[in-house]
Amino acid sequence: MRVRILGNGGFKNQGLPGNAMLVNGRLLLETPPDIIRSLGEQGVSLADIEAVWISHVHGDHCFGFPFFFFNWLLAQRSRPERKLTVMGPQGLRERLRLLLELAISPTSQYIQAFEHNVVLREVAEGECVPLLDGMWAGFVSTDHPVPTLAIMLSEQMAETLDELSRHARFVYSSDTRYSERLEYLLRSAADLVLCDVNGSGNDDMHLSAEGLVELAHRAGVQGSGAHRILAGTHLSEASARIRAGLVLVRSGDEFLIQ
Ligand SMILES: [Zn+2]
Repeated sequence: MRVRILGNGGFKNQGLPGNAMLVNGRLLLETPPDIIRSLGEQGVSLADIEAVWISHVHGDHCFGFPFFFFNWLLAQRSRPERKLTVMGPQGLRERLRLLLELAISPTSQYIQAFEHNVVLREVAEGECVPLLDGMWAGFVSTDHPVPTLAIMLSEQMAETLDELSRHARFVYSSDTRYSERLEYLLRSAADLVLCDVNGSGNDDMHLSAEGLVELAHRAGVQGSGAHRILAGTHLSEASARIRAGLVLVRSGDEFLIQ
């Protein structure tokens, strides 16, 4: 599994590209407002993207969807029947439809294309679903003011979340304050665990780098080791590569998980 970092900035942000990742060149995680620019800067082919995951409906995670979808459609001109799978928590369909209406117009053909070309699946804590060929995703609720899900990716079929967790390769926590579910994610078998660290010490919506490292120790999980990388994203400012023992990602970073 190959994970490319497209952006590392959070809602509180002094100019970093919005937090987003690309898995195997085909699965896009998050659509921040500047997602088109990040995809373009990294030379990503929109025509290759088959699925999109949006962790929750805060603007720094979904306001780029209308621009992504418009340009994705243009990239599929020779394949007008091609479908885009879009997954996320309850309420995602209604929010994306509203964003498209605001961004273009309620009567635009792109709204019809959203209904026709997008296979939208709202998922919930505990579900395990197939995504792309051979890849499975499982979902875990995190603690944030709107319904928010972390995603665990595995290259093996799994019927339960615990089974998927044992075979997980990559975990992306998205936005969360401390919750026991975060400890569950940290205890998965994933080689790369990427977490939101947009908070400061007393922030009530996000973890801090120090808070995440402390949590990992409490969960009995090693931080960055030979076979496992615990990394932070959704940052507020450009900073050192390592903070409190945590790797902080940047655009263009690529993790090859074998
Ligand atoms: Zn948020």
